[in-house]
Amino acid sequence: MKVGIMGGTFDPIHIGHMLAAEAARDACGLDEVWFMPSHIPPHKHEAGVTGQMRLEMTAEAVSGHPSFRTLDWEVKRGGVSYTVDTVRELRRIYPHIEFSFIIGADMVNYLPKWHRIEELADMLTFIGVNRPGSGLNVDDLPPWLRKTVKIADMPLVDISSTTIRKRAAAGKSIRYMVPDRVYEYMVRSGMYGIQSGTAD
Ligand code: ATP
Ligand code: MG
Repeated sequence: MKVGIMGGTFDPIHIGHMLAAEAARDACGLDEVWFMPSHIPPHKHEAGVTGQMRLEMTAEAVSGHPSFRTLDWEVKRGGVSYTVDTVRELRRIYPHIEFSFIIGADMVNYLPKWHRIEELADMLTFIGVNRPGSGLNVDDLPPWLRKTVKIADMPLVDISSTTIRKRAAAGKSIRYMVPDRVYEYMVRSGMYGIQSGTAD
């Protein structure tokens, strides 16, 4: 069985994440994609909303897809989330699953700086997708890393969680930038300053 891990802060989860996962599933014949919100990512500060809320939004986002699941390990473990630790544990618990890790172009370029990247690259392959603002150029990666990265085509989606948080705080609409069920969840819980009515 082949499983792609879609990791991220998901603060909030948006259609760029959904399309990246679906593009990787389709292009690489993945049986499932597991969406895994991180607790505190190594390269960022703490998310704007709680891990529990980011998990719940992720669960809403994946709920309609038969091959998408949510993985709560990093949020439940707490602390800084190092992908290498999580993947080692995944391989111990699921020795027969072949794992890959789905990343946008910004993260592909950043790969050499990932924590214990040599160790991680020995355990899985990466599936890189296009993202506006970052060229998807594996030629700049060292050869040992380049050979672990496959590319999946996806339509360019110029949306980020940062944009969504800013728009929501400014009272601008974010409808359709996130899956409908996520939008409803956000309005219900008044996250990021969204209030029912103001962002319609
Ligand atoms: P933030 O603005 O808070 O950094 P983000 O939109 O970049 O949020 P993350 O949770 O940081 O979202 O990203 C998780 C993963 O999804 C990363 O590998 C990132 O490259 C990828 N990703 C996010 N948005 C897109 C997009 N619009 N197109 C392609 N990949 C994306
Ligand atoms: Mg990001």
